[in-house]
Amino acid sequence: MTTLKLGAHMSISGGVSQALDRAASIGCNAVQVFTKNNRQWSGPPIDAEDVARWQAKIREFNIESTVSHASYLINLASPKPETRQKSIQAYQDELARAHAYGIPYVVLHPGSHTGSGEETGLRQIAVALDHIHQEMAHATKVLTLLELTAGQGTNLGYEFTHLRRIMEQVAEPDRLGVCVDTCHAFAAGYDLRSVEGYQRLIDDLEREVGMERLKCWHLNDSKGELGSRKDRHAHIGEGNIGIDGFRWVLNDPRWVDVPMLLETPKGKDLKEDVMNLKRLCAVVDDPARIPPGLRIER
Ligand SMILES: [Zn+2]
Ligand SMILES: [Zn+2]
Repeated sequence: MTTLKLGAHMSISGGVSQALDRAASIGCNAVQVFTKNNRQWSGPPIDAEDVARWQAKIREFNIESTVSHASYLINLASPKPETRQKSIQAYQDELARAHAYGIPYVVLHPGSHTGSGEETGLRQIAVALDHIHQEMAHATKVLTLLELTAGQGTNLGYEFTHLRRIMEQVAEPDRLGVCVDTCHAFAAGYDLRSVEGYQRLIDDLEREVGMERLKCWHLNDSKGELGSRKDRHAHIGEGNIGIDGFRWVLNDPRWVDVPMLLETPKGKDLKEDVMNLKRLCAVVDDPARIPPGLRIER
């Protein structure tokens, strides 16, 4: 019996591998990290000792799935050549870090066109990815997961069509996958409160990019209204999606091996993560699907 791969985004304070200790301390078997400070363009050199510790801890804690999230500064769609160049450098570095740690997926916000138009922005992203893929020819095991966005401002990626157009324009589409964030999907107009809304999301996913491309779920409730195009994460069950909206994803057997990760507000003691994971587990129909660490009362 396979269990869900359930976890949260964890702090890397004290070293990237410390995120695994944090995840394991609350029973997660999946984790997302930034592999460096996400608000800076560049980070310290890759720490070989921490890489070795990461690999040892993955085995020790039975972590089944790891994902990294690229820096928020990166904008491959920027019409400004300096920003685009810096973004290309920074994203190559993200892939190099993931490759070193053996993290198979890097989640990337496709980018913002900041006025140049959607078509131009999507083309810029594809051109940038081609360049990055060429430079990182040795890192084909690391997939870039284009994240479905809420569509705030001039952000691209709020419809699967955008993600498809990027995939169509790159030379190596097999190096790309998709990450769906429930908060973003709701803000982009998918009414996850009903099974029909969930089905519409899955139909669009299948038609535009194909089901097998979905490699990661971000499970967040939404402070914004349906279709608000606002990216504001809420605790599970406390936003406009509500707890029932998470049943469809959690009980869909197609996603049992796809990591599902919280990106909800929290403090150092992780008590909010514990609360949100408990709420998610409570709507899993088959208790055998709950990761062992999360069956324990905390
Ligand atoms: Zn997300
Ligand atoms: Zn978000």
